[in-house]
Amino acid sequence: MSGTAKGENDKMKAVKYLGNKQVRVIEIERPCPAVGHALVRVVASGICRTDVELLYDQPQPLEVIGGHEIAGVIEEANGLNRFQAGDRVLVNCHVTCGKCKHCANGDLIFCPQLRVFGFDVNGGNEEYLSAPESCLRSLPDDLSFEVGVLLNDALATPYHAVKKAVRAGDRIGIIGMGPVGLMAVICAKHFGATVAAFDRLARRLDQARSFGADVAVNTAEDDAKNVARELSGGDGLDAIVECSGASGAINVGCDLLKVRGVLALVGVCLDLRINPTEKILFKELSVVGSRNCNSNELEELIELARKAPSLSDVITHRFPIEEAAEAYRLAEQRKGIKILLTP
Ligand SMILES: [Zn+2]
Ligand SMILES: [Zn+2]
Repeated sequence: MSGTAKGENDKMKAVKYLGNKQVRVIEIERPCPAVGHALVRVVASGICRTDVELLYDQPQPLEVIGGHEIAGVIEEANGLNRFQAGDRVLVNCHVTCGKCKHCANGDLIFCPQLRVFGFDVNGGNEEYLSAPESCLRSLPDDLSFEVGVLLNDALATPYHAVKKAVRAGDRIGIIGMGPVGLMAVICAKHFGATVAAFDRLARRLDQARSFGADVAVNTAEDDAKNVARELSGGDGLDAIVECSGASGAINVGCDLLKVRGVLALVGVCLDLRINPTEKILFKELSVVGSRNCNSNELEELIELARKAPSLSDVITHRFPIEEAAEAYRLAEQRKGIKILLTP
């Protein structure tokens, strides 16, 4: 209960999914934070591939307001212990029980009671949202809201994967230079690896180079196996971080690895065709699945963000909430790298 009477001031703008790649900016009631919740004024909200595929592309209108990559300022703190009005925060998108073993380990995505901002609960594509204190994380003053948005998911997801698969001195390949792959390049350089970036678009390979890739391989033109052989002195690569989610790319990734190499699967592939005996068993490959991150990794991500100033170059477009339709159109067409709404 905010104490103010309901009136004009309690309305806010939000982006509604109308179905079939249509969005409209509507006015809805500003949420009233329950006890233990904060009203967060959204400063930046990232548009993710999953938003496009699971929300924007759907044929039917959706009730939920999207956006799971959220940074903002606490406008109102209703009985919080660790935060107060005016604090700069990230909103971790995972709303969980806080009691199970997965929550205790920071593996929020495995909580049986998991609900996610922007999918199950109204997310950041609106001017204000209500979030429980357990989802709030302090955003240090030296990091911008925009970079903060990346720490929640877009950087965190490849970071978690690269950390599992890559060690200092490794010679690795990263397949698929979309936003996740490009940020995986930044992470792998941070971990001290030599990185070959694989994609079929020259524009994306240029970006990969600018984010630190040592070699950029155009899979439409170059012989990927040759490059891997040369880079590794003949043995094959130590690890592949697969970000494309393409069945063919996963197969090629296996071929580029040395014996006992590590294949980290980050890209979501729903139609994988692979011969596990030939591709995995014969070379004793290790396959690691990686999905989002562990919430205890936030400090490491903050440190990485401080050391990698190029990270903010990942953000190529910013739109006020009124221009959400254009923002989603660009995201759908895979224009730019990271697109933000700045309500
Ligand atoms: Zn995301
Ligand atoms: Zn839990």
